Amino acid sequence: MKLFSILFYLVLGCISHLAAQDSLKSISNPPKKTPKNVILMIGDGTGLAQWDAAQSTQKDNLQVFQMAQAIGFSKTSSSSSFITDSGAGATAISIGEKTFNKAIGVKKDSTSAYTLSEILHVEGYSTGVIASCGLTHATPASFYAHQPSRYMEREIAQDFYGGFIDVAAGGDYTLFDTTKLKKAGYSCYNYQKIKSSDIKASRYVLFYDTVKEVKKISEGRGPFLRNATMKAIESLSSNQKGFFLMVEGSQIDWGGHDNDLNYVISETLDFDTTIGMVANWAKLNGETLVIVTADHETGGLSLTGYDKVNKKTEGSFSTKEHTAIAVPVFAFGPGSEEFIGVYENNEIHDKILKALKAQGLK
Ligand code: MG
Ligand code: ZN
Repeated sequence: MKLFSILFYLVLGCISHLAAQDSLKSISNPPKKTPKNVILMIGDGTGLAQWDAAQSTQKDNLQVFQMAQAIGFSKTSSSSSFITDSGAGATAISIGEKTFNKAIGVKKDSTSAYTLSEILHVEGYSTGVIASCGLTHATPASFYAHQPSRYMEREIAQDFYGGFIDVAAGGDYTLFDTTKLKKAGYSCYNYQKIKSSDIKASRYVLFYDTVKEVKKISEGRGPFLRNATMKAIESLSSNQKGFFLMVEGSQIDWGGHDNDLNYVISETLDFDTTIGMVANWAKLNGETLVIVTADHETGGLSLTGYDKVNKKTEGSFSTKEHTAIAVPVFAFGPGSEEFIGVYENNEIHDKILKALKAQGLK
């Protein structure tokens, strides 16, 4: 009898242990949700040292560090060079294949490849491109244009009239023909002249100004990046199928090329504020995958000290060019688990399509 009751409790113990394990499993592995929207945020030239330099000026954790549910590393070399440029870097993400430096939306044999925006446009998503630099610069261009060189800016602008981008914001007004834009179905706005609430059109280009250049944040650009981004999200989210939006913090890279730490920090903080607003929106929305990464690191930056008297981070740059060091990838929302690990930059393309369960075009 005693042996029987010992056996009885042993079996009962095993069953309840298994049941507890099962319920634990279901807590740690909730059913995977498919995101409806994807917001890809590229800090041009933003390696870990750039993020950390910005972090050193803040009491609270950077927004990008707070939002990250999944962290990975992207290896940025191009098909032609150990050190990529922004054309090959953004194109790898956009088309899913590594290509040669200076390429915009073309494969390494110079033939056009479908960009994420084209693929998702065809699948019924709305699409957008936003930059704190000119719209024909390498990073934004890689999401809508197909040219063998980033310096063919007039041809890049021509490719925009193809019309599969719904919403765009940035500089380079002087390279675009507003008559052609209107013919392609876009309303054109000048950010200096309007309030973003005045934008009623669902397809529009918001130019930073009527000049080519976009100002530095330290020289009075103001909240252009965050305002343009939140307006774009508002416009694009009227599509029930979902949207794909690329947002670039463009000038972090320029601070790196100038070996100007203050420039790097102020542009990174501006980008981070935008990330915080996007993350808050995505949290409420619950159906949006947000990915924050870089095309490459710029300047070979390291943080070498802290000047307590002047309350200033001290950094040292090892080059005026880009470097080949891997860059962090931070992801939030449904599908973010895809971005854990160490992988090549072009795999980000596949991970986005996989998260969306989209087919892709070949
Ligand atoms: Mg760029
Ligand atoms: Zn650069």
